[in-house]
Amino acid sequence: MDQAATGRFIASQRKRNGCTQKQLAEKLGISDKTVSKWECGNGFPEVSLLLPLCNELGITVNDLLSAELVSGEDYQEKAEKNMVEMIKEREENRRLFMLTLALGGVSLFSFLLLLVVGCLPTTAIPPALRIVIIAAACVFFTVGLLAVMEGQRKIGYYRCTVCGKTFVPTFRNHVFGLNVLSKRLLKCPDCGKRVWCRKVMAKDPAGQKED
Ligand SMILES: [Zn+2]
Repeated sequence: MDQAATGRFIASQRKRNGCTQKQLAEKLGISDKTVSKWECGNGFPEVSLLLPLCNELGITVNDLLSAELVSGEDYQEKAEKNMVEMIKEREENRRLFMLTLALGGVSLFSFLLLLVVGCLPTTAIPPALRIVIIAAACVFFTVGLLAVMEGQRKIGYYRCTVCGKTFVPTFRNHVFGLNVLSKRLLKCPDCGKRVWCRKVMAKDPAGQKED
């Protein structure tokens, strides 16, 4: 799903209904800042607000997810595509997240365990073995760190703030990219510029051909 396109669509439908951001927000029991955020493409309505929002705008959830008024002919096809796309993305993200968590957790545990064993105040462990144990601890620490970084890189996408391209950065690009909150300084594969890219959880449908 393309947050920017959805935001523009929400704004256009709100205006079509002759409604201000404030009025829409009041009807939904939320702040007008939230509505403004959606319309700027900086957020997606949470699931519990999807139906009330669509009711207020006089559109269907399918329209909202497609970021356009879907005609009768395409309706079924678009609805199924949206559904499959959402489930696929969510499952893939969850799988990656769990994998990252497991790898990170096991690595951290092993690191701490080995560190404690390596530093035990006993003469039973020869110095050479201590070095091996500490080295192994460092390996686990590195593996854990890499796993977490890989998770951060691969779960969701980054969106170029210049051309709007959604992409998963290369490992090297990601490691050396300066990170501030949800933004990271990355080289966009489409326009080739090194720009601040925003972390997004869903991919722009228009960018799927680049897979
Ligand atoms: Zn770009």
